[in-house]
Amino acid sequence: MFHFARNRSRRISVMDYISTRGSAPTLDFRAATLAGLASDGGLYVPAKWPQLSPDEIRGLAGLDYVETAVRVMAPFVAGALGEDELRGLCKAAYGRFSHDAVTPLVQLDHRHWLLELFHGPTLAFKDVALQLLGQLFETFLSGGDTDITIVGATSGDTGSAAIEAVAGREHIQIFMLHPEGRVSDVQRRQMTTVLAPNVHNISIDGSFDDAQAMVKRLFGDEEARAKVTLSAVNSINWARLMAQVVYYFYAAVRLGGPDRPVAFSVPTGNFGDVFAGYVAAQMGLPVAKLVVATNVNDILHRALASGDYSAGTVTPTATPSMDIQVSSNFERLLFDLAGRDGAAITAMMGEFDAKRAMTIPADMLAGARDLFASASIDGDTMALALRWAQERGGQVIDPHSAVGLAAARALNLDADIPVVTLATAHPAKFREAVERATGVRPSLPARLGNLFDREERYTRLPGDYDAVKAFILAESARG
Ligand SMILES: *Cc1c(COP(=O)(O)O)cnc(C)c1O
Repeated sequence: MFHFARNRSRRISVMDYISTRGSAPTLDFRAATLAGLASDGGLYVPAKWPQLSPDEIRGLAGLDYVETAVRVMAPFVAGALGEDELRGLCKAAYGRFSHDAVTPLVQLDHRHWLLELFHGPTLAFKDVALQLLGQLFETFLSGGDTDITIVGATSGDTGSAAIEAVAGREHIQIFMLHPEGRVSDVQRRQMTTVLAPNVHNISIDGSFDDAQAMVKRLFGDEEARAKVTLSAVNSINWARLMAQVVYYFYAAVRLGGPDRPVAFSVPTGNFGDVFAGYVAAQMGLPVAKLVVATNVNDILHRALASGDYSAGTVTPTATPSMDIQVSSNFERLLFDLAGRDGAAITAMMGEFDAKRAMTIPADMLAGARDLFASASIDGDTMALALRWAQERGGQVIDPHSAVGLAAARALNLDADIPVVTLATAHPAKFREAVERATGVRPSLPARLGNLFDREERYTRLPGDYDAVKAFILAESARG
């Protein structure tokens, strides 16, 4: 391995992180990663977007995933991690992926491509971010005397990806709540067969929303906070988004970037993955369009199409990881569109929290539409795209990826621009829906083959906050 001499004077020496609500303290990368949410209720973003020049982007061509990751992420971690440290963490994180390219590109037809993000340990794109986050947590906590207690609720993918990321690590306990009987067998077993002593799976009698509400209550519980250092791993954590910026660069340079613009279509729930595409564009990557692809839970599509940002009730679909009404990361985009005015965002989000609805001002909406397009895809249209990928592109894809592909094909994008759909889950993870649409039942990859023979371990608790809290505090004290 050799390194080109680079112009160091342009390098950022410390990256500061500021809150979208303008009144939390400015933090460095380490503190922002450990904090997750800002203390004023906002989300952390870099104080400025680092820039990669066209030459620097050209220089990414031919680099492997880890080296691309180091070049793209180095400015974001400046002041907290050196380049060699970052490289070591990336090697450890992405060495666990089953494909040598980490996020391979697959061609569907002359203009449509898939970026396969599901080659990590739990078969969903969340591994790309969470595997790195696990490494970052361990590095930042090692040698110190702080132990953290991660508590989360999951309707499926996040839980297993978070557990795989921190299983067996020192200084970390993880408690993951899932609704009893309401996650798929594959999803449950991916969590409950991880037997490391710092992993605590809890099934709750109730819905995902009940589990989520308990987690929120715990984070606001003074007594609990006095006993344990609580930490969150949901996609409000900046480090997760940062890790996702990398694959936009990785894909674009393989399709001729920066000398040829590329469009991306992103199956969207919490607006994390597509916001990472926005960050890549702010850093200088020529992105022709970012397509926000939603299922019928389409608050983001309505917001971008007409400024109507109003939450309804969640309709269950074949794409459960996108069954979301409120997309937390959208606040990060609003912050930029409002000229990074924290007071304005505090007022807007206050109104939204009170009424569950707001109208996005016309000038902000116009700014968003320069880069973003959107589409809301129903179940039938999703199934058609799944079949199209199989018959015309030779690929069996998962329903979430199919929502992205359907949106990419429905929108009238420039015919000479390549369109990359982010494939966010392995088809075997959602094999009932895939089988219904295509007649093909995808098999689990060999490395998960004995999932159904492994021992499961989890604690079933009633849907009662006090019981859950008592369990978490008692188990953390033992760990
Ligand atoms: C989490 C998830 C999404 C949505 O990603 P966001 O970053 O929340 O927009 C899409 N597809 C799959 C398979 C997921 O697990």
